[in-house]
Amino acid sequence: MKLDLLAMAAHPDDVELSCGGTMLKMAEAGYATGIVDLTRGEMGTRGDVETRRREAAAAARWLRVRHRESLGLPDAHLAADQRSKLAVARVIRTLRPRCVILPYWEARHPDHYTASRLGYEGCFLAGLKRLQLEGEPYRPFKILYSTAYARVRPTFVVDITKQFERRSKAIASYGSQFRPPAGARKTKVHLAIDRLTEEMELLARYYGEMIGVQYGEPFVVKELMQVEDVVALPVRSI
Ligand SMILES: [Zn+2]
Repeated sequence: MKLDLLAMAAHPDDVELSCGGTMLKMAEAGYATGIVDLTRGEMGTRGDVETRRREAAAAARWLRVRHRESLGLPDAHLAADQRSKLAVARVIRTLRPRCVILPYWEARHPDHYTASRLGYEGCFLAGLKRLQLEGEPYRPFKILYSTAYARVRPTFVVDITKQFERRSKAIASYGSQFRPPAGARKTKVHLAIDRLTEEMELLARYYGEMIGVQYGEPFVVKELMQVEDVVALPVRSI
């Protein structure tokens, strides 16, 4: 397999919530895209592993990703240890993505910032020729960090206005997380989906506003951005 773009995050639904629109947009542009969930989200308060697996597969269809898998690393105890790094390196050698999206390296949830470091170090290891690991050495060319939840200024924002509806459907696939079971009273769980929908719309509007479009998703890159054509640069200045 040879992917153009791979998004890697700690829990099923992290990718949908942080960069689902971008994944869909790239798939619609003809790129081969994929998602790797580091854990199965087995420590989540709601939904068992099998339910979450089915929900993740349904969400992947909304986002038109070609490949999705879970590495089954321990939820809530994600660690950038040797075993986990090799698991990431192995999947990088198998999927050979040119570009990888990771979570931003600072976060409230320890799994989220650990996923960032684990993803980076796994990508690095994958390229080492003398590493004792099956598969051809391979290193992605580009790493983007999704900053949807980090209060940092993004390096760039992707316009996801056309993808917003479908991204919402992908997020809604996670019924066990955000929707109450049938017949349940209107409790805290019911509020979760309303609040989430509102929050996701607000965030996407906020970042969209930054580039003068309706909805956007933010990213940071550690390198500088290179520009070929200054005349064709988007985003109005005045
Ligand atoms: Zn998460």
